[in-house]
Amino acid sequence: MTKVSVSTFKAPKGTYDLTPPDSAVYLAVREAIAAPVRRAGYGYIETPGFEQVELFSRGVGESTDIVTKEMYTLTTRGGDQLALRPEGTASVLRAALEANLHKGGNLPVKLWYSGSYYRYERPQAGRYRHFSQVGAEAIGAEDPALDAELIILAVDAYKSLGLRNFRLLLNSLGDKECRPAYRAALQDFLRGLDLDEDTRRRIDINPLRVLDDKRESVQQQLVGAPMLRDHLCEACKAYHEQVRELLTAAGVAFEDDPKLVRGLDYYTRTTFEFVHDGLGSQSAVGGGGRYDGLSEMIGGPALPSVGWALGVDRTVLALKAEGIELELPAPTQVFAVPLGEEARTKLFGLVTELRRAGVATDFAFGGKGLKNAMKSANRSGARYALVAGERDLADGVVQLKDLESGEQRPVAFDTVVSELLAAQG
Ligand code: AMP
Repeated sequence: MTKVSVSTFKAPKGTYDLTPPDSAVYLAVREAIAAPVRRAGYGYIETPGFEQVELFSRGVGESTDIVTKEMYTLTTRGGDQLALRPEGTASVLRAALEANLHKGGNLPVKLWYSGSYYRYERPQAGRYRHFSQVGAEAIGAEDPALDAELIILAVDAYKSLGLRNFRLLLNSLGDKECRPAYRAALQDFLRGLDLDEDTRRRIDINPLRVLDDKRESVQQQLVGAPMLRDHLCEACKAYHEQVRELLTAAGVAFEDDPKLVRGLDYYTRTTFEFVHDGLGSQSAVGGGGRYDGLSEMIGGPALPSVGWALGVDRTVLALKAEGIELELPAPTQVFAVPLGEEARTKLFGLVTELRRAGVATDFAFGGKGLKNAMKSANRSGARYALVAGERDLADGVVQLKDLESGEQRPVAFDTVVSELLAAQG
């Protein structure tokens, strides 16, 4: 038999495990992001972790980094070309179309999701190859109030976690009326610049993405570039104005960012990103926008839609950056410590009873002595320990110890459950 070396237990590059107690924070963040959307009528959707490659190449865009460089693709034994999902929107729209959710006569279809996403990126702080998002999509309606609703829900989610140092960047990417003329004007401008070959190629395929180039040498040359906001058609201008007004009325502050194009091709009109100022270079904690053409791009009917995805990993980092500790309920409220075989059987039964009554209870497993068992009780975070030995059983009681005050008193076996239920309020 070969010996397993410790390095075998290392998670793959660019990934990490969530283990207790930190994992509880991730769960709480997921729940905090989901809570506002659930209150706003979004229904839960879950789709497979992988899809046909084509869904993403057609949906996310052939020229995007996500599709050209970052997808985990595989060929199945049956010859299908699949990709681990790099983002959620295309899958959710595909699933909604497959289930004919858009035909129920009740548009928009509002959906939320939570899951793992995969991108073959260069790992660094805040950038992983496996990460988690919670997302929300509203499919099949063109209404500035819907764009505003989603943005407000994201802001409320961040606020409910206590975050303060985040900003909302907002832009409009125009639509099929005004974007083509702008695109041509931008291409003319970009062709006059001194750019490397890769970037020049991008001018032909997706010139707006050049605006998003993070390199200083490129950004310097972009001063004076035509900006979409000066080329928006009347309809897009009016739409954007309404989104802004609704956000302002809801007390949501935003910054206009005319260069915000985002890394996916499907966006139209409203685009936005949430950035956090304590995260260094990977500062985007979430983002989204309107994608009126995506359904047709993947072969569906015209379904104007809007959505966002918020990164769970980076939201957790943002909490750390702001020094926020979430108030999480202790995983264990009561810890039972049996002394001797008979007590073990009796207390184990009581533990089951307490759990069934809704009290989070754990037990000293493994035949520990009193000292070690009490150590486990303290480590568990429980407020109370239940200790029982033979004499207690003979008296029909267990010792209820308050681990905060150290006080201990006997409680009749039959009333333990009701006493502890009362104690937790
Ligand atoms: P995107 O679809 O790229 O706009 O991603 C939405 C959000 O997911 C981002 O704002 C990040 O918070 C998060 N995210 C995207 N890529 C990664 C990654 N490689 N590692 C960690 N979080 C990510």
